[in-house]
Amino acid sequence: MAMNLDGITRLVGYRRVSTGEQVSEGFSLEGQMSDILTWAERNNIEIVKWYSDEGVSGKSFKRPQFDLMVSDLCTDNVLADGAVFYTTSRMGRRISVTATAKDELKRHGKVVISISENLISNDPSSDFVFNMLGCANELQSMQISDDVKNRLTDTASNGYYTGGSFPIGYMTIEVKDQNNKTRKKLVVNEDERSIAEKIFDLSLHGKYGQGLGVLAIASKLNKEGTLNRGTKWNRNKIDYTLNDTTYIGENRFRKGRPDEIIIKVPPIISRKMFEEVQKGLKSRQPKNTESKGIRSCTLLTGFLKCSVCGLNLTLDYGKNAQYLYYKCTTKRNCGPQSCSCPTIRKDKLEEAVKRVLLEKVFNFEHILQNYSELREITKNLSKSDQGKILRQSKKCNSIKGRLSNLYNQIGDGIIVIDSTLKEHIEALRSELLTTENELSHMQNRLNLKIFKFGKTKAQYFCRQIVEFFKKANDEIIKSLLLAVVKEIKVFDGEVQIKGSKYQLVDLVSKAKKGTPLEVPSFVTVWQ
Ligand SMILES: [Zn+2]
Repeated sequence: MAMNLDGITRLVGYRRVSTGEQVSEGFSLEGQMSDILTWAERNNIEIVKWYSDEGVSGKSFKRPQFDLMVSDLCTDNVLADGAVFYTTSRMGRRISVTATAKDELKRHGKVVISISENLISNDPSSDFVFNMLGCANELQSMQISDDVKNRLTDTASNGYYTGGSFPIGYMTIEVKDQNNKTRKKLVVNEDERSIAEKIFDLSLHGKYGQGLGVLAIASKLNKEGTLNRGTKWNRNKIDYTLNDTTYIGENRFRKGRPDEIIIKVPPIISRKMFEEVQKGLKSRQPKNTESKGIRSCTLLTGFLKCSVCGLNLTLDYGKNAQYLYYKCTTKRNCGPQSCSCPTIRKDKLEEAVKRVLLEKVFNFEHILQNYSELREITKNLSKSDQGKILRQSKKCNSIKGRLSNLYNQIGDGIIVIDSTLKEHIEALRSELLTTENELSHMQNRLNLKIFKFGKTKAQYFCRQIVEFFKKANDEIIKSLLLAVVKEIKVFDGEVQIKGSKYQLVDLVSKAKKGTPLEVPSFVTVWQ
């Protein structure tokens, strides 16, 4: 099942192991890391930071590294698209804690990915399974009941479909089991079968007998309008498709885990062809050394956004491998014709961005203007905000209470998960998200505190910054960018830098006279 990883290039990794669990469940810290790294390498994703809680039970409410990770991501202290886990149970075994963390990350536009179950929180059906597994994980740990987990295992062992998205070429139909209960089965979707066959055929024989790479296949299908259920193909989706054993009749539930279950489904591709395709994929894999070299010096990755398709720009070699270029993810994944945005030489773009930063952003008039605007906002905060905050936080708590009751009742087998319940829970959760969002906006406005400063200090800061840019290396400069820049949008012939007023003013206000400007302490320098 393909996970939609569009625009995801940087993630943080989280590992957790509790005492005693390590050996019995095969969940060692090293094992979790190496599986996550393999997955990341394969999907062209950079793991920018690791967080590990060792000897900490999933039942515990206190997981220092986990909390740090959530706050680092939400405050953009570490710039990444989200967090990746080995399995959902590594997130924790308290649904109230994990669901809150996941929602908070979601609110800040961060995804949560679990590689074993192939789940990503930005996909609604995947997200629902996430919550249900979170629920199952809590039940499992509290040993009240393994009901949900057992039911899924039971469903899979009997050859029925467990839920979530399914590969192209397949669809689900409803059938009755021996107890006359409605179940789902994966069958071939005759309307899509030819697309799946075509992908395998292109990978093996290509156009003139020579197999095509994943990017070339994506590009070709998009060009002729053969879409992936309405969305464009990219190299990740093609790669997933070509590696999915469902096509040879083996749909894997809990893929790669000790308790993996193979669900027999009708095959579309012969085993012989599948194996040939795997060989071809291996031989075409890029050399590791090359991709690692690209990753080591990336001043602007994570900041750059394509103005046409909105996705991140990442580094890529040009045709002759002479220069490095920033190229948008759509172009990289779906071929050069897939987006009309410009591909720009790395050195030139970085030079231009640095110049704009010095001339326009770290310019004392710009700083003073932002400062006075911020003071205006602070003045206008009224007492009524306090009352609103109280009301909103009461509302949040009441929704959380209702959700927790529902989860408990599901756990105790009092109510059964069906589509009505699913809709009800989703409605509650989305209401919770909106309420929490409003709440956090109000709290941020109320907590706005800045030190006073004047023209002399702003000018002093600007002089320091010029020196700083002359001396610092890319890694240090990047940590400064992380503190003030939110996004750099690349247009044809123009670069637009977006940042936080508050963070800029805050940075200036904290720069002490007499000490050289250093990397602000709240910024992590990552490698
Ligand atoms: Zn683009």
